[in-house]
Amino acid sequence: NEQLAKEYVDGVFEQLKQQNSHQAEFLQAAEEIFISLVPVFAQHPEYIKANILSRIVEPDRIISFRVAWQDDNNQVQVNRGYRVQYSNVMGPYKGGLRFHPSVNESIIKFLGFEQIFKNALTGQPIGGGKGGSNFDPKGKSDSEIMRFCQAFMTELYRHIGPDVDVPAGDIGVGAREVGYLWGQYKRLTKANESGVLTGKTPGYGGSLARKEATGYGTVYFVKEMLKDANDSFEGKTVIVSGSGNVSTYAIEKAQQYGAKVVACSDSSGYVYDPEGLDLDAIKEIKEVKGDRISTYVNYRPNATFTEGCTGIWSIPCDIALPCATQNEINGDSARTLISNGVKAIGEGANMPSDLEAINEFLNAGVLFGPAKAANAGGVAVSALEMAQDSSRVFWSFEKVDAKLHQIMKDIYADSKAAAEKYGYPGNLVIGANIAGFIKVANGMLSEGVY
Ligand code: GLU
Repeated sequence: NEQLAKEYVDGVFEQLKQQNSHQAEFLQAAEEIFISLVPVFAQHPEYIKANILSRIVEPDRIISFRVAWQDDNNQVQVNRGYRVQYSNVMGPYKGGLRFHPSVNESIIKFLGFEQIFKNALTGQPIGGGKGGSNFDPKGKSDSEIMRFCQAFMTELYRHIGPDVDVPAGDIGVGAREVGYLWGQYKRLTKANESGVLTGKTPGYGGSLARKEATGYGTVYFVKEMLKDANDSFEGKTVIVSGSGNVSTYAIEKAQQYGAKVVACSDSSGYVYDPEGLDLDAIKEIKEVKGDRISTYVNYRPNATFTEGCTGIWSIPCDIALPCATQNEINGDSARTLISNGVKAIGEGANMPSDLEAINEFLNAGVLFGPAKAANAGGVAVSALEMAQDSSRVFWSFEKVDAKLHQIMKDIYADSKAAAEKYGYPGNLVIGANIAGFIKVANGMLSEGVY
């Protein structure tokens, strides 16, 4: 059975490679998931018969469109917009929008494919999707951002809806952008369907604790891993890459749990503060001023800034939380972290460790919390925002945070149990992929061939 399962998975992957030969990130994400599903297909021949893998890896549809907008000099600019509606088996398509110059179909498909399993893992009724644009928000004025968001929504609105597809934020898209997108959706549809987008500002249809959710969730997940190893955040040295939403609130929660967070970064480099980062300074730099993280040295005399993105992994630490972007940790960085004695990794970003790095961590016995599980807190609270929007009743910060905490504990327990059941105890990469996949696969079987 194992042999048959392996042949099936290899066959589907071979075909995928031929058809998507230029989509490196998509193939990387697919390969990681495919490998971990072999034990499932060995035990469930019905999934092979229904050809679940070929079906699930092919998105329901890919929407790709022109976004034309006017910059502050009245010059018309053109970008490409995407929305990949991957799977609505578990609920309406759900996933963020990423505005970044690197965005292309491969990136959106990798993110959308992962989103299916992550969203299923949360236990909330949400399917998988993702979107975005190659628009670069860096250096753009507030009115340029507004006009871009309005132009983007002028096409996107016809494809989404609170029971159809519910976008949210991701890299380059925060509450401000979601607000502009939401305003435009309302004007175009004349309906006050606030559940069509999540990550809105609290008081205007948004949920309390959504902003904090991904970062807090990552730390809650790592806390569970540590607890199982009779350990905790107390007194640990922690590195958190990135300095956006995920990173800021991962730092906050790790500090609340008694850790010393000594470094964070942005795309130009990293800051190291041996006495522990001053979170108020980071919030002022990123949330108030919208400045580069290098300016942190003006707040703290003992802090240093170093250019480049990989150097951050050479700082000795007990726990590393990659919260910046895909493939930020390669095999070399993983080996450096391991030789410096890292005990646990929690992936706050999407696919921050490449396949070689993941194998290094697992082989070295480092506790490894994979992105699909460890960063699911953001989308989980998005589902709670949808519930609040539908009921038109809003919950307290404490209530949302308590639900988030429980969801992260459940994700950890489900991933751990699936890993054990399928013969890979302690391997949460395999466990998370399997636990998410089985929910979706059974839903697909029950819905008939499509
Ligand atoms: N972009 C986040 C993620 O990757 C959040 C998506 C959402 O809230 O829909 O899960």
